[in-house]
Amino acid sequence: MDGVPENLRHIPQVEKVLAWTMGEIELKGVSRPLLVKAIREVLGQIRKDLLDLGGGQIPSEDEIKARVVQAALEDQRPTLRAVVNATGVVLHTNLGRSPLAQAALEQMVKVAGGYSTLEYDPVCGKRADRLRGVEELVISLSGAEAAAVVNNNAAALFLLMTVLGKAGRVVISRGELVEIGGSFRLAEIIEASGVGLKEVGSTNRTVLADYQKAAAGEDATLLLKVHASNFRQVGYTSQVTIAELVTLAREKNLPLVVDLGSGAFMDLAPLGILDETSVPKALSLGADVVCFSCDKLLGGPQAGLIAGRSDIVKKIKSHPLMRTVRPGKLTLAALETTLRILRDPAEAQEFIPTYQMLHCPPDQLRKRAVKLKRTLGENLGLKLSLVEVSGQIGGGAAPEQPLASWAVGLESQRMPINLLEEKLRRFDPPIVARIFKDRLLFDVRTIFPDQMALIKQALNQALGELAPGSD
Ligand SMILES: *Cc1c(COP(=O)(O)O)cnc(C)c1O
Repeated sequence: MDGVPENLRHIPQVEKVLAWTMGEIELKGVSRPLLVKAIREVLGQIRKDLLDLGGGQIPSEDEIKARVVQAALEDQRPTLRAVVNATGVVLHTNLGRSPLAQAALEQMVKVAGGYSTLEYDPVCGKRADRLRGVEELVISLSGAEAAAVVNNNAAALFLLMTVLGKAGRVVISRGELVEIGGSFRLAEIIEASGVGLKEVGSTNRTVLADYQKAAAGEDATLLLKVHASNFRQVGYTSQVTIAELVTLAREKNLPLVVDLGSGAFMDLAPLGILDETSVPKALSLGADVVCFSCDKLLGGPQAGLIAGRSDIVKKIKSHPLMRTVRPGKLTLAALETTLRILRDPAEAQEFIPTYQMLHCPPDQLRKRAVKLKRTLGENLGLKLSLVEVSGQIGGGAAPEQPLASWAVGLESQRMPINLLEEKLRRFDPPIVARIFKDRLLFDVRTIFPDQMALIKQALNQALGELAPGSD
């Protein structure tokens, strides 16, 4: 025996499957070459299964047809597409952090579909700087002398180290050498810029004297303070404040850079977010330059901002690396519009989704949970309940700050809960919810009102795939 399964010869030909599937209504929008591609994929898989198992049944005509339809439809779907975030994590990095304000979306669309004033001043009829709109707004919102915009905060930090580090070493507390997520470590970004680290203090405690000693060394070229945003130290701990470092930086004539992580222009204490230093606050305390993300607590698109002393910003902007990290027009359109909204805190709360979600009070969230529970209904063998949950802001902001919220909890007698969770993820659009104690939780804080019906559809479809009549 050569070990080749007999059945291989009976796998249907591509042409034959094409004839079976051509008329399927679900495949109406699918071109012939893409349909053939899907068929080859499915037949290839059948062949592989037979070889792997050393034989077995060839699926029926109906089964093959269903698989081809599914493969073709999956191939039609963009990889990057919308999902329903039912996790309650407002700034979920895997799910794209901040959703954008409607006005920001509209401005992106206007700018994207045609030509624009990206680098053109229509009043003078001359070339203009693409970053001008955003930078002026940042200056007026933060009180900074000057500002620069790059692709993200990691790029902002990298540029600052490159320009200010000058082949020396950056003084930083061991307690602030954070890992950002996606296994990017701050220390590695700094070292990649060619600047050495001069770590001071210990993991849990760093005092001013540690900085003083390090700053006295010839090789110290700047002081860096990082907002340890995604974790919290409790117990026997101590870190040095921005104000204390300002005094030392002035004394030693070293620039003080503060990586704020999130970067909000307004005071977030009224939201119960107590440990974020706002951008204007950090600058007014005397930081020479700050950098932060635009898609965290700022509520805008992915970008990084640098704001502070004009001589430093000027150096940054004229550095050749600036060109490698410059944002595109879609980002700039969305960011400029978001910043315009942020000039009025009341507008920010009303129109920027991140702020809407963070501001939503528990009693209102409870009402929304009641509505979602009603929408989902008690049918289909599901047990639904209202659950008080403790959510998270996410995006490395205020990790210890519980965000009191409400969820609809779902228990399923008809299907293992993890299977149901998977089916919802595979729905189009995917519904991302989390399992807690054998219940699937839908935290309403991050669910947009028009998505409630989608969750119902997804549940119906997931459960409808079971044999009917098992109420
Ligand atoms: C999130 C974060 C970064 C990275 O910002 P990106 O915009 O994702 O590049 C850097 N530093 C701190 C402290 C952060 O919280």
